[in-house]
Amino acid sequence: MNLKEILDKEYGRAVAECTNEEIYIALLKEVNAFASQKGKAEGKKKLYYISAEFLIGKLLSNNLINLGLYEEVKEQLAEAGKEISEIEEIENEPSLGNGGLGRLAACFLDSAATLGIPADGIGLNYHFGLFRQVFRNNAQTTVPDAWISENSWLIRTDTVYPVNFKGLEVKARMYDINVTGYDSVTNKLHLFDIESVDESIVKDGIDFDKTEIAKNLTLFLYPDDSDENGRLLRIYQQYFMVSAGAQLILEECAARGSNLHDLYDYAVIQINDTHPTMVIPELIRLLTERGIETDEAIEIVSKTCAYTNHTILAEALEKWKVAQLKKVVPQLVPVIEILDDKVRRKFDNPSVYIIDKEERVHMAHIDIHCGFSVNGVAWLHTEILKNVELNHFYKLYPEKFNNKTNGVTFRRWLMHCNPELAGFITELIGTGWKKDARELKKLLTFKNDTDVLEKLLAIKYSKKEQLKRYILEKQGITLNENSIFDIQVKRLHEYKRQQLNALYVIHKYLEIKAGKVPGTPITVIFGAKAAPAYTIAQDIIHLILCLQELIEKDAVVSKYLRVVMVENYNVTYAEKLIPACDISEQISLASKEASGTGNMKFMLNGAVTLGTEDGANVEIHHLVGDENIYVFGDESHTVVERYKRADYCAKEYYSGNKAVKRAVDFIRGKELEALGDKKRLERLFNELVNKDWFMTFPDFDSYVAAREQAYTDYENRLEWAKKMLVNIAKAGYFSSDRTIAEYNRDIWNV
Ligand SMILES: *Cc1c(COP(=O)(O)O)cnc(C)c1O
Repeated sequence: MNLKEILDKEYGRAVAECTNEEIYIALLKEVNAFASQKGKAEGKKKLYYISAEFLIGKLLSNNLINLGLYEEVKEQLAEAGKEISEIEEIENEPSLGNGGLGRLAACFLDSAATLGIPADGIGLNYHFGLFRQVFRNNAQTTVPDAWISENSWLIRTDTVYPVNFKGLEVKARMYDINVTGYDSVTNKLHLFDIESVDESIVKDGIDFDKTEIAKNLTLFLYPDDSDENGRLLRIYQQYFMVSAGAQLILEECAARGSNLHDLYDYAVIQINDTHPTMVIPELIRLLTERGIETDEAIEIVSKTCAYTNHTILAEALEKWKVAQLKKVVPQLVPVIEILDDKVRRKFDNPSVYIIDKEERVHMAHIDIHCGFSVNGVAWLHTEILKNVELNHFYKLYPEKFNNKTNGVTFRRWLMHCNPELAGFITELIGTGWKKDARELKKLLTFKNDTDVLEKLLAIKYSKKEQLKRYILEKQGITLNENSIFDIQVKRLHEYKRQQLNALYVIHKYLEIKAGKVPGTPITVIFGAKAAPAYTIAQDIIHLILCLQELIEKDAVVSKYLRVVMVENYNVTYAEKLIPACDISEQISLASKEASGTGNMKFMLNGAVTLGTEDGANVEIHHLVGDENIYVFGDESHTVVERYKRADYCAKEYYSGNKAVKRAVDFIRGKELEALGDKKRLERLFNELVNKDWFMTFPDFDSYVAAREQAYTDYENRLEWAKKMLVNIAKAGYFSSDRTIAEYNRDIWNV
């Protein structure tokens, strides 16, 4: 790629004379042209990955890397005195996802294209995506985050499908985003949008009139599962996505030669969590409309659809009232009733019915009965699905259940975000790992090589310096790059237990006050957005921000301990934080985190995990061994039993454990009250003492012990570097290339 020529043609000016924006726009066009030249993956059968979320992140560097253009562009920019990071700053991040689930979908598309699998994504073109988070008065406020501009990666297509709601027909137009594989083909992410959307109805913050469907359908990403508002709108969005998607799939398969009776030879549909479940009844409906008998249509669709379960949190398993569906998509209700009827005839067990006695439709039940595969996303998660959560279904269909442990794309989460480390790895073991991540194991031969270990430490230090510069620029906060960077970044949720981390911070603050100072200073970094309607999550953010201020103002403690909550944690921020991390906090209550993918990104970048035996942490532990991870807390079987017995009494732990009581009492003590909102702090205090639904107290002592051990071990720099090296070397298993190869081998067969 000749940047000089391109810019000369586009603007008639030299590189140095162009603005960053002009360069960005020219690069975007050129990259898209390049991507199209790569051609698509072709084949009779194609995977359609339907997901309400695709948290793709910025695309410029990612695409340049995948197309093999990154180095040359970087060099040509450097010759003109520019840095590629300045150009990246121009791009808006499309926040089309809440967190892990949406980011997983993006990693999967990257890997499918890299492996040359015919696979397209189908989703929604939210105009605002997830809200932008701004801190005011130590609390989260939310601002709409527009990302679409004239020059975005979206390519408008001529494909338009009608979508019918009760009393309203709308048009779904397809927009495409190129999905470039690494040194491979280019697939597509299809995002459907409503023609009549009207951004001007967004008035104050992120509130808007939820009833004007034709104007608001694709305005916003639903901010998390715990928000009860806008439920009907959510049904509108889901049906809009799957109806347009189903029409696209049928059209494409017919064009490839399917007579629709053999649809499953031409298409496999992966349903990412329950949000796209309505694709099942919609496809059945469309097939019968095209003359296929209902029984056969059900059979065809059942051989075409596969379901991924992402959570065992009951409140996140979607259930729509029949009455709600009748208001929005009455045409689906008879189909769902037929499916339910079939289940009732076959099985004499109300717990597996599709429609329950309260007239609610269990979306996951549709997926399990009418799909040919049900997969969990980490070994432990799948075991819990089979043996506890979905045990009734497992007994009916043991052959459908399988595990596909999540992964992340190493292009973004190592090559892009940490070129220093990627380059060093290549120096040591060659380039083979970029195509086959298992080759990272070769790093183990350097475990006792002091030069290698010292270089790893030096790279980590430089990434910490870079993060320091970034946070100073964004938030005006100065980090100490010589402190331990202990990081917890992920959506805010009680099950992820940011509150446990905060309790530790209080504990440590009080210890330091009492004169017990740590050997190396500690910087505790949080990053998390909370669903606007999720009160306790807001309260936890408030607590963390108050602690940040309290410690900042304390001249003595702040020498040893700092708390920083980064504002508006998103993919771009993750790319800066993860390479700079020493200790990766993965402290969810055992059994609650299905997999996690943050844990994998951190490990790959040489952070050591401090975590519970939960999700993929279990597999990380197994891979790196006891020496190279800090594990604490009750195990999942203990937790599951405790919930079953329903005898957990937070107050007993609170009264019986002095350290717990001291930390919890501090939440409503006078120090924090002076900085914060008394109502919020009281509410959080009461929540913990009376409920502590995610059982932070029983794990508190072992958490403190494990964390202190990690801080002590950190002092021996070379021994620590060995742990870093082992983590990097063993991270190969968590490449999403491996995950996708397994999906294709066991489920898709494309
Ligand atoms: C990876 C990622 C997540 C998922 O993090 P978990 O720790 O697995 O919950 C969430 N948000 C962003 C921006 C990410 O990059």
